Amino acid sequence: MKKHNFSAGPCILPQEVFKQASEAVLNFNNLDLSILEISHRSKDFVDVMEEARELVLELMGLEGKGYKALFLQGGASMQFVMTAYNLLENKAGYINTGTWSDKAIKEAKIFGEVVDVASSKDKNYNYIPKGFEVPSDLDYLHLTTNNTIFGTQIKEFPTTDVPLVADMSSDIFSREIDFSKFDLIYAGAQKNMGPAGTTLVVIKEDILGKVTRQIPSMLSYATHISKGSMFNTPPVFAVYTSMLTLRWLKENGGIAKAAEENEKKATLLYSEIDLNPLFKGYAAKEDRSIMNATFNLAEDNLKETFDTMLKEAGINGLNGHRSVGGYRASMYNALPLNSVGVLVDVMSELERKA
Ligand SMILES: *Cc1c(COP(=O)(O)O)cnc(C)c1O
Repeated sequence: MKKHNFSAGPCILPQEVFKQASEAVLNFNNLDLSILEISHRSKDFVDVMEEARELVLELMGLEGKGYKALFLQGGASMQFVMTAYNLLENKAGYINTGTWSDKAIKEAKIFGEVVDVASSKDKNYNYIPKGFEVPSDLDYLHLTTNNTIFGTQIKEFPTTDVPLVADMSSDIFSREIDFSKFDLIYAGAQKNMGPAGTTLVVIKEDILGKVTRQIPSMLSYATHISKGSMFNTPPVFAVYTSMLTLRWLKENGGIAKAAEENEKKATLLYSEIDLNPLFKGYAAKEDRSIMNATFNLAEDNLKETFDTMLKEAGINGLNGHRSVGGYRASMYNALPLNSVGVLVDVMSELERKA
């Protein structure tokens, strides 16, 4: 029997995607060749890349609005570098809501002045800062829409004329957002879109060309745009599997439908966390993420019992990140509501036993 997989990333993808992807490893498009052994310049693969890029813009409602979708390498961590390299001339603002924002800030400082526009570091990132002023002289404002480790999520985005850059690695395609508010969006595939090895970048073309420094070809968005995301050999398997997941998402009602399911899953789990006296949530209630729910046991001595029960129920990947401890349930698009039901049953069973 398959496990109930709450892993934070790499994480669960739809079963049918795993099946289709594994078939393509043996025989892709009935070519009697593996997707891993054909040229990335062949029509069969170029079609995959084009479909993936189109599906992204279509699902996000960004078609015909001046955006390009790219599938790059180096993970979201490489985007910490590339965003600043390509966009930071004088001064950039960052909202520091956790480990990932902090790492993005560190890289940006190599390229220019960086201001912490707001931060929740004072409470180990258990909330989203609000009511801050965005300076008007920034090259861009960077934010992390969902904090995978701490379980917080930005629900309302700042209104500003400054270009917005967002790390959406762990909540891309999970909820309805006006994506056209953003000038650059990036996301490592392995949280909600595909396997590790590729990173989605959605970029509004007119924000480029404003920095004076020379940018190495591989790190320049302009290069990748001009070559249709095929400047060098792309990670073919990761792009193919991401494309299959995007197709699955579209066939199942797109982001709107996924968002509805994600709300149901999150509501089910958070109600249990709030009602069951043996558990306490980590993130501030109004900032809770619908993707990653962080919580702790009220009494540590129940840990062994709880962990054994989780194992017996076939639940995988519930350990919290080492910087927060406790538990974290990641409920990405492909996680069935039933898996959350199984987790909630274990939690209430623990209450009956204790
Ligand atoms: C996982 C994660 C990253 C890092 O992604 P890599 O692809 O491993 O570099 C960055 N930002 C967020 C929000 C993440 O969840």
